[in-house]
Amino acid sequence: MSKSRNSESIKVVVRCRPMNKKELAANFERVVSVDVKLGQIIVRNPKDASASEPPKVFTFDSVYDWNSKQLDLYDETFRPLVDSVLLGFNGTIFAYGQTGTGKTYTMEGDRLDPERRGVIPNSFDHIFTHISRSQNQQYLVSASYLEIYQEEIRDLLSQDQSCRLQLRERPDTGVYVKELLSIVTKSVREIEEIMNVGNKNRSVGATNMNEQSSRSHAIFVIKVECSELGVDGENHIRVGKLNLVDLAGSERQTKTGSQGERLKEATKINLSLSALGNVISALVDGRSSHIPYRDSKLTRLLQDSLGGNARTVMVANIGPASYNVEETLTTLRYSNRAKNIKNKPRINEDPKDALLRKFQKEIAELKAQLLKRSGKKKRRRQRKRAGDGTDGDDLEEGETEEEEDEDGGDKGDYWREEQEKLERERKAIMEDRSLVAEEKVRLLREKEKKMEDLKREREVGEMLAEKVKEMESRLLVGGKNIVDHTNEQQKMLEQRRQEIAEQTRREREMQQQVESHDEETLELKETYSSLQQEVDFKTKKLKKLFAKLQAVKAEILDIHEAHINERQELEQLQNELTRDLKLKHLIIENFIPLEEKRKITNRAYFDEEDEYWKMKPITRVENDHEMMTRPSSAVGYRTPLCHFARQAMMTRPDIRYKAENVLMLDLDLPTRTTKDYQQPSITPIVAAALEDALRDEDEVQVDASGLHSSLGLTTPASTSNSLKKPKSGRPKTGKKSSTPTSPLSHSGPGSPIYPKARGLVPK
Ligand code: ADP
Ligand code: MG
Repeated sequence: MSKSRNSESIKVVVRCRPMNKKELAANFERVVSVDVKLGQIIVRNPKDASASEPPKVFTFDSVYDWNSKQLDLYDETFRPLVDSVLLGFNGTIFAYGQTGTGKTYTMEGDRLDPERRGVIPNSFDHIFTHISRSQNQQYLVSASYLEIYQEEIRDLLSQDQSCRLQLRERPDTGVYVKELLSIVTKSVREIEEIMNVGNKNRSVGATNMNEQSSRSHAIFVIKVECSELGVDGENHIRVGKLNLVDLAGSERQTKTGSQGERLKEATKINLSLSALGNVISALVDGRSSHIPYRDSKLTRLLQDSLGGNARTVMVANIGPASYNVEETLTTLRYSNRAKNIKNKPRINEDPKDALLRKFQKEIAELKAQLLKRSGKKKRRRQRKRAGDGTDGDDLEEGETEEEEDEDGGDKGDYWREEQEKLERERKAIMEDRSLVAEEKVRLLREKEKKMEDLKREREVGEMLAEKVKEMESRLLVGGKNIVDHTNEQQKMLEQRRQEIAEQTRREREMQQQVESHDEETLELKETYSSLQQEVDFKTKKLKKLFAKLQAVKAEILDIHEAHINERQELEQLQNELTRDLKLKHLIIENFIPLEEKRKITNRAYFDEEDEYWKMKPITRVENDHEMMTRPSSAVGYRTPLCHFARQAMMTRPDIRYKAENVLMLDLDLPTRTTKDYQQPSITPIVAAALEDALRDEDEVQVDASGLHSSLGLTTPASTSNSLKKPKSGRPKTGKKSSTPTSPLSHSGPGSPIYPKARGLVPK
């Protein structure tokens, strides 16, 4: 399935940035010199520059000084890697180094300035130009962008920036980030847009941009899938993945004196980088069978790139000034070790998770659907033309692509024809006088429904065609402008540059070899004319070797010192963590009941996937599995019954557990305790009194004179007083009912109506 190749080492290059304004202003001494030809970085010790301590020399695959151009770096170092990604290899570029030494400059650079653009934008151009020049190949390019900060993964392209993603592993495809967005892009502009969105999100999440970017790892992933017809006549897909990694600043986050959250933060920030260092050491060591990839998110995610099947380039960025010398040396040692890692790159051919395959399949399915639809149409048409459907069916088998095309050509005509026909029929029905009105309406409705169906069918067809077009547009094919003259020239130019880059690389390699062999072979070739000459020569040689020995000894001492420092730091960290742990123990021992502690300890388990301690749900059953399965319904029962219910059903006489076959009885109605309402019967006297009392006051007419005499009252005031009625018009007391029941009977004809002022007389 995959073509394996010989193993090859990780390529390590070093780039030294220019002195910045501040360093120049402060007149800092430059302690780094770069020998581009030999691929060497020479670092002097600023403390005793005058002393005899020899400078430290490190040799790398290639080195770049402060005058290096972004494009030179690209052509010499990164272009071959991106080329192999286009062939289907996995490739990774790491930028490693202290904060402020040019990692982001190397990876991204200044996007707007073509001279200062970094690897990422340059690779966009490279990839899409390659595709446009390709022939008989189909490409699919997708991009993702993520950030690892404090061992948490954030998708920089996602809408929700608070969401954290998890790493997952599948035996067939390896480690991947679950739910990471991967966006299919069709052009340089689109993929640039993706990078911009991600960069914006990177700064949005940070309280202090520089702070955050120096403490987080950003990984931009470009996946290039290519489909090509193989010699076996089958389509083969190759998938190359390019990881562009801008690592966190390599300077150690100080942990001393920090506690709790701060301590944890510093530990976590250092974790990925030290895990990377440990992986490198373990790989280089060769003796250790266990490579601690699982120790951090970064190393897990980039497992392939370190000792795996990917091609890897590490760019170590350093600063030239004297005050950075410690960090510079650490960086150089770190990357010097990485040189010895061996990878076994191989082409990923026909992997299971190729998106391109899915796309091709979906397009084929959609096309088949379209074909089926147009087939139907065609049959209908044929049927119409032939007058009956017999030969229309025969056509189904004989339909070819060509016919489909031709059909596609007059697709519009077909729809128009069909619509016009329906319209004609509708008109005919409207004008047909022989039809009954009802029948007409029915037929018209039928026609309208047909028209509606026709429209819908057309819409669905158009939608399908649109989708096919959209999906096909995402699959990139080149080869159309291959004859373009300028294109050709540019291609030649690039090829030349590449050749030159390759040439310099080889020259450097040879020079490095010559240098190392020189000392060994020189002696053999030499013939001495006298003993004295030999002595002189050998003394010189001895001195040289002695100097070398001193350098190596010094290096050993330095490394030893660095190790001691690191060990001390680790011990300190361990002490602090132990102290933290003791506090927790103290709290647990004193404040948590033993029984509770035991319960919690029993329930807690470590989830390897999420890297978290979790609690098992509380269950009464010991065996989890029992709890998970629903009680299955026993044969003959309509509902699932648990074992206990079934047993209880058999043994107990009551119906508590009887889910069915329960005896059905009518409702047992209770005896009645109420009566229906009956109107009360009232005596005529009471009725009359009531009627009188309820009469509206306007209807009441009182003969005042009669009243006067009957009550024996004289004063008009008291008269009015006694006759005063409550406003409601209803008597409040029984007293009122003693007034004449029918005042009208007392008033003779012509007698004055009771005065209007009634009720308004003041008390
Ligand atoms: P890092 O990402 O390592 O923290 P940056 O890439 O942000 O560092 O670089 C810090 C500064 O140095 C930036 O202003 C950048 O433009 C400048 N710089 C770094 N390397 C170079 C270089 N090779 N040439 C010119 N300027 C550089
Ligand atoms: Mg940076």
